[in-house]
Amino acid sequence: MDKIFDIREECGVFGVYGHAEAAKLTYLGLYALQHRGQEGAGICSSDGHTMYIEKAMGHVSEVFSEERLKRLPGHSAIGHNRYSTAGGSMLKNVQPIMANCMLGSISLAHNGNLTNAISLRRQLQEQGAIFQSNSDSEVILHLIAHASGSTAQEKIAEVAQVIEGAYSLLILLENELIAIRDPFGVRPLCLGQFNGAYVVASETCAFDLIGAAYVRDIEPGEMLTINDNGLHSVKAVDSFKRAHCVFEFIYFARPDSKIFGGLNVHSIRKKLGKRLAIETHVNADVVIPVPDSGVPSTLGYAEQSSLPFDFGLVRNHYVGRTFIEPKHSIRHFGVKIKLNPIKHVNEGKRVVIVDDSIVRGTTSKKIVKMVREVGAAKEVHVRISSPCTIGPCYYGINTPTRGELIAATHQIEEIRKYITADTLAYLSIEGLRSVLPNPDDYCYACFNKEYPIGFPQDNLIKSEPALV
Ligand code: AMP
Repeated sequence: MDKIFDIREECGVFGVYGHAEAAKLTYLGLYALQHRGQEGAGICSSDGHTMYIEKAMGHVSEVFSEERLKRLPGHSAIGHNRYSTAGGSMLKNVQPIMANCMLGSISLAHNGNLTNAISLRRQLQEQGAIFQSNSDSEVILHLIAHASGSTAQEKIAEVAQVIEGAYSLLILLENELIAIRDPFGVRPLCLGQFNGAYVVASETCAFDLIGAAYVRDIEPGEMLTINDNGLHSVKAVDSFKRAHCVFEFIYFARPDSKIFGGLNVHSIRKKLGKRLAIETHVNADVVIPVPDSGVPSTLGYAEQSSLPFDFGLVRNHYVGRTFIEPKHSIRHFGVKIKLNPIKHVNEGKRVVIVDDSIVRGTTSKKIVKMVREVGAAKEVHVRISSPCTIGPCYYGINTPTRGELIAATHQIEEIRKYITADTLAYLSIEGLRSVLPNPDDYCYACFNKEYPIGFPQDNLIKSEPALV
């Protein structure tokens, strides 16, 4: 039996068509999307005849040198940032992935996760397909190569009828760039314009960096072709219900981005914090964020509760991918290297700490202890700007199996004791829905286990071994 798919992928994609410096723009786009994946990065470019690819493990700045970018000529390019994962961390899984088929050279960058990838892969293997990676994205490439249509668009539309789950996909051919998004629109994907060229990105923060203008989102189920004739859009697969990932707003996307129809992430997070303050009031002296992701909701919390906002925890932004720990272990080294309390902000105070989510509970436990012991806070109240995380994500967010999600197996009071907070409260699902303009258009499965896209049983069992 081959190794199971790595289901824990959240990634960033960026593409350009029609610009002399396509690879450089893609490099910058990936730079802005670094938060979506830090394990590996890659760019594939095309000069209309030949495709070039460069990829490696590491951050965008580590992977690409001036020299390496020079090896990526052409007027079109796609790029990918891959999320660090448990188990699937290897060069062969870094994207874009490139192959040659009847269409010529083709490469693909995928954000999301297919829910029927295991059975599709098995079928392909029974037909003799050979795989080089564990990624579900390679399944898509094989399916395109096997599809019966004569054009890339026909083949991709055929594949869209077969693949299930979340996909925001960029596909580069020698003379065109194709963007396609799953019918539920789970992951974001937006279209922009820059100096006569078109750009496509997971989030608009990538457009801001290069000075591109946001045009619109790629619609759920839409396949958009960009070539020398301009844009050509078709509905590749019927879209009956939207299920945008609400966790993009809570944690994943960058606050300066506009996603899911142009909604600014920062302002949604701030509203979450306001609502959290209404729902979970506590008498306190100061509100502090867990930086960085907790900052916007803390601002909202402080504003709503008329409590002073302060930076009671400082984050070291320069923590690299590797560090050398001294032999004699330092208490809470892992979290201390990232965060440290400012004593005079916390000392003797009733402190509210706001974070966006609790997954395993490890971070909150360490932070509470640190704010109480090093920060000398009198009381520590933890407020979470999302509901209890009780279900793993099968659509591409890096959440662990159900057994590891503390709220899946413990009551809030038990979690409070575990993290040693004086009080602990989460935002309600209703509260979360109340800040979204079209609340029915979102997936809340990690909070209510109502999965909008089903998954075949064998895929479920393999992707969640700890399910009990
Ligand atoms: P934990 O320590 O497992 O409870 O993780 C909670 C912390 O991880 C919070 O501070 C979140 O901001 C952060 N977080 C939440 N979701 C993710 C994710 N998918 N990847 C990385 N960090 C996350």
